[in-house]
Amino acid sequence: MNLHQFAETHEVTNQPPSLDGTNLYRIDLPLQEWSRRFGAGWAESRIDAYGALAGGPLMEAGFLANQNKPVFASHDRYGHRIDLVEFHPAYHELMRTAIEHGLTSLPWAHPQDGAHVARASMTYLHSQAEAGSGCPLTMTFASVPALRLQPDLAEQWLPKILATEYDPRNVGMAHKAGVTIGMAMTEKQGGTDVRANTTKAYPVGASGPGQAYELVGHKWFCSAPMCDAFLTLAQTDKGLTCFLLPRHRPDDTRNQFYIQRLKNKLGNQSNASSEVEFRGALAWMIGEEGRGVPTIIEMVAMTRFDCMVGSSSLMRQALTQASHHCAHRKVGGKLLSEQPLMQNVLADLALESEAALALSLRMGKALDHLNDRHEAQFARLVTAVGKYWICKRAPGMINEAAECMGAPGMSKTASCRACTAKRR
Ligand SMILES: Cc1cc2nc3c(=O)[nH]c(=O)nc-3n(C[C@H](O)[C@H](O)[C@H](O)COP(=O)(O)OP(=O)(O)OC[C@H]3O[C@@H](n4cnc5c(N)ncnc54)[C@H](O)[C@@H]3O)c2cc1C
Repeated sequence: MNLHQFAETHEVTNQPPSLDGTNLYRIDLPLQEWSRRFGAGWAESRIDAYGALAGGPLMEAGFLANQNKPVFASHDRYGHRIDLVEFHPAYHELMRTAIEHGLTSLPWAHPQDGAHVARASMTYLHSQAEAGSGCPLTMTFASVPALRLQPDLAEQWLPKILATEYDPRNVGMAHKAGVTIGMAMTEKQGGTDVRANTTKAYPVGASGPGQAYELVGHKWFCSAPMCDAFLTLAQTDKGLTCFLLPRHRPDDTRNQFYIQRLKNKLGNQSNASSEVEFRGALAWMIGEEGRGVPTIIEMVAMTRFDCMVGSSSLMRQALTQASHHCAHRKVGGKLLSEQPLMQNVLADLALESEAALALSLRMGKALDHLNDRHEAQFARLVTAVGKYWICKRAPGMINEAAECMGAPGMSKTASCRACTAKRR
């Protein structure tokens, strides 16, 4: 008798082949079509290269970054306050790759027809590999229009925001070639209604735009708290005002920015979201005093755009997984993709996915042509409406895609990042 004859209990059949290492751009005809049509044809080789990264090393890094959540240390082993969030190296790899490929800077650093569309197309690919890093990437990208409202601060910070260099070290901005930016608006008593913010700003010397203040208060949500600076809101005598608050003071000491704890979230695991307190934190006023909401809306509008791109991206990855599964899985002796009812479902999913992508990239085109009045009005309206619609549709669409895969679609062992992120 062969001793090994019982070692193999069965042959694995009727399972789809792995998608690992697939270039996500080359299998995405709608992305190829819409990115070209909206002006990013010149960037095709860059987007294609990012598609290979997203379907390969970044996808792998995405799993690692979500399996190994960030860890917060309030103090070091000797009792000094450090307020440090440590991330898995895979998270840093995701951030570095994205920043080096211009995902935080391309249309601002090299404005041209199709630049927003090209950057959105690469972001769409990145988010399919990993969505959590999209939070600081987006906020860094989105901070630029708001910062430009305060030219003296913009002059100091923009060269480092737009540099394609990632430096996660816990040191002041003077020591870094590249920096990342976050956003802290939400307080316990009001998120939608930021006018309810109670954080107070006290002038250090002279008051007004560009001047230094000390901020006292709290923020109930501050994602990516290892960013180098944050756009935040605080009350002055003239009302709610926008400020830029760095994590380190110009003399390299830590700013009075204290992380209370990390949020325990349902998804978005790779990215840290925190609660913070400002205890006399040094910050500089951005834009007109008392006009904090219109100032920070310049940033919020750009984050809404990326919410459209990000949710469209999750829908696309869900569709990719579902259609791949159905093209290889037989039920009742016939491939699922040949079964009329499944064809109906897959066609609906494909339509919804492509519609979300087309609207997102159409929005990118509008951002590339803001000097055209019609495009500016389109952008003003569609950042809000498009974000609402696509983000609302994404969970239902992804759930349907997961069902197409049967039990693997509902299991954490499934390789669908969108579905696993949603279930956690
Ligand atoms: C993962 C994650 C990360 C986040 N990161 C950040 C961050 O980095 N920085 C930051 O500042 N914030 C952050 N937030 C907070 C987020 O911006 C707020 O949660 C959001 O603004 C909503 O505020 P709220 O939670 O206080 O809800 P509320 O304002 O209490 O609203 C509750 C619900 O009521 C709805 N609603 C509000 N007004 C109306 C109305 N007039 N009619 C009908 N419905 C209404 C809202 O849409 C919402 O569904 C984060 C949130 C999450 C989930």
